[in-house]
Amino acid sequence: MSSYPHLLAPLRVGSVTLPHRVIMGSMHTGLEETPGGEHELARFYVERVRGGAGLIVTGGISPNPEGAAREDGAHLSQEDQLPPHRTVTDAVHAEGGLIALQLMHSGRYAMHADAVAPSPLRAPINRVTPRELGTEEVERTVEDFAHAAALAQRAGYDGVEIMGSEGYLINEFLVAHTNHRTDRYGGSDAARRRFAVEIVRRVREATGPDFLVMYRLSALDLVPDAQEFEQVLALGREVEQAGASIINTGIGWHEARIPTIATSVPPAGFTWVSRALRENLSVLVAAVNRMNTPEIGEAVIARGDADLVCMARPFLADPAFVEKARRERPAEINTCIACNQACLDHTFSGQRMSCLVNPRAMREDELVLGPTRTAERIAVVGAGPAGMAFAEAAAVRGHRVTVFEEQDEIGGQFQLARRIPGKADYGHTIRYFRTRLAELGVTVRTGHTATTEDLADADRVVLATGVTPRIPGIAGEDGPTVLGYKDVLEGAPVGRRVAVIGGGGIGFDVAHFLTHDPNADFYREWGVDRTLEAPGGLLRPEPTAPLRSVTVLQRSAGKPGARLGTTTGWIHRAELRMADVDFVTGVEYLRIDERGVHVLVPDPGLVEENAGVSAPAQHHGARAGHDDAARGAATAVDTAPGKAELLVPADTVVLCAGQESRAELAEQLTGERPVHVIGGAHVASELDAKRAIREAVELAASLP
Ligand code: FAD
Ligand code: NAP
Ligand code: SF4
Repeated sequence: MSSYPHLLAPLRVGSVTLPHRVIMGSMHTGLEETPGGEHELARFYVERVRGGAGLIVTGGISPNPEGAAREDGAHLSQEDQLPPHRTVTDAVHAEGGLIALQLMHSGRYAMHADAVAPSPLRAPINRVTPRELGTEEVERTVEDFAHAAALAQRAGYDGVEIMGSEGYLINEFLVAHTNHRTDRYGGSDAARRRFAVEIVRRVREATGPDFLVMYRLSALDLVPDAQEFEQVLALGREVEQAGASIINTGIGWHEARIPTIATSVPPAGFTWVSRALRENLSVLVAAVNRMNTPEIGEAVIARGDADLVCMARPFLADPAFVEKARRERPAEINTCIACNQACLDHTFSGQRMSCLVNPRAMREDELVLGPTRTAERIAVVGAGPAGMAFAEAAAVRGHRVTVFEEQDEIGGQFQLARRIPGKADYGHTIRYFRTRLAELGVTVRTGHTATTEDLADADRVVLATGVTPRIPGIAGEDGPTVLGYKDVLEGAPVGRRVAVIGGGGIGFDVAHFLTHDPNADFYREWGVDRTLEAPGGLLRPEPTAPLRSVTVLQRSAGKPGARLGTTTGWIHRAELRMADVDFVTGVEYLRIDERGVHVLVPDPGLVEENAGVSAPAQHHGARAGHDDAARGAATAVDTAPGKAELLVPADTVVLCAGQESRAELAEQLTGERPVHVIGGAHVASELDAKRAIREAVELAASLP
């Protein structure tokens, strides 16, 4: 008996039988608009079909040029565009998979001069103001959807997914906030729904009864002045009647200021919305967002929240997600940790999508781990992300690998990262590598600091000894109130008032760790209405009181957290804002003593006027109106020519001042055999796990 009887049960949808309940959701890879990219795209999908993916949804393709996300964005409107699509569909079908094309008109999110929308209203996340579509143009756009769906059918796709959520064109028609029209496509709830419903009807008419027509329905807009749930249900019923085979749940517009897929979202955190749809509609409903293990998928379907689960990023992290579940090997799944660092952050910065935990994603042809010609004895020192990833990849290739790790557990800095609220999933990466190294016969010696003698017999040595926290050299840093971030994350007692030295990724994480109440309710904190009564599902956020008062200090003058991820930085900043964390930037450290941290700041007037109260250029106060005296915020205690001295009162000072490489063994190793230094041991500056893992797999792939 399977551990996942609901998840792995086949499902008949019209004339198609899906092999199980997991849809591989749409991901725009960047290859859709790359000339010749279809071959690599086909390879990417084929690897996933071989790994058990059933129905795959492609990245978003516009039904016409003005709906493309960028000027050169992919669209499907002519017969002569079909051959590359056929390459993809043929490859997927040859492996027994099913594939649907996502039809996505970007509307006012399009980043080009010809952007169009129901009304000429600029989106807060776009610089372009769209042009209003005339009534005839709206009708023509409906026909463009139908035409594109017919073309998709001719290209061999098994279906289409009509993107009606996330704030794109169809969604913009549905909401009074973005639809000020007075023609037949605006003015009343029914009129605002007309565009969506006509598209579904015309797509069904154009493609016949056997084609899969999925509709991504915005069930929770999470923007002001948006749809009430009754309106959502009314749309669901009309879409169902117009011929949709499956309704996929859409949660939140891109401009919504509520996290919907990042690590901080609770697992399966929005399937209660799918449940509400399913209870009120007859059509099949798929749930989405923050589902990354077969256990979670099974539970969602078993409790009746949805008929299907739609997972996207988990298929980047592990192409064989479904097959491993089917073979009852869930511990072997390389789990998506919802970091967004190599997938969405890449997409939004114009880089090719990949995956932090699986750098082979989208580089399947390039980063090949084929069998080695000469099996070697390889010693790996350090079992952080770099060491673990190298050991796995080298063992896959047939090398005999021994790993030395001085801690009692493998994982390196991921052992600390997983303690940050919302980052518990980072522990999955450690579990994955632990399982894989055991399975591949890698010898792992934990609790042992490797010496040159340990490495004497190896044909090749890989130093993945990582990083050590930087000791910044501030007078008084060896005092009794000063702790390193490692001490703090490992449970050292911390006082009520805390100064954090360093506002990088770790400074932010530590500030969150010290202020976040583990009993806080995600929905209440961010203002999500679980009763589905408030329009758009939005309520006033009610942050939980922070556990401590924290001030983060940094020497540079720029915006705190400026280097955090493109798609997640705003969440980290918002979390600290909710926790009343203060930032003082542009500081020069003077000394640390039992009263706190003494710093110089460049603008005396600024300090005298504000003394840690509001949010001027250099003192980024968290929220207006807080009680600074009680919180112990910075106060000016002295002035010097051109500068002011500030005391940031603190019971505890935490050093988060970056890292330095730890590679002392490199100099001690002599002889002819190759020695490689990777990850943080190689370069500590701007190190992250994405680079550490990528370097490791690239090295393993490059060995003879
Ligand atoms: P490390 O993780 O430092 O691993 C090195 C290992 O080598 C250690 O286990 C050490 O014990 C071992 N070692 C050293 N010398 C020896 C020896 N002589 N013998 C035996 N063993 C030895 N990165 C991200 O990309 N995204 C994040 O969200 C993120 N969050 C983070 C949150 C926190 C709180 C922290 C601390 C880090 C975070 N990072 C994050 C950074 C990321 O964890 C590091 O970039 C990554 O761990 C570096 O990998 P590494 O293998 O090079 O080094
Ligand atoms: P970091 O991001 O480089 O930040 C280091 C901080 O220390 C900076 O604020 C720096 O700013 C300060 N600093 C550097 N030298 C100093 C000195 N001598 N004295 C005082 N302050 C000093 O590094 P990190 O915070 O240690 O993070 C390590 C890596 O992990 C980062 O590359 C990051 O990408 C990754 N990470 C990512 C996340 C994430 O959510 N994506 C979370 C955690 C960690 P000033 O010089 O301005 O003071
Ligand atoms: Fe998941 Fe991070 Fe990989 Fe994206 S980069 S698929 S979020 S693990």
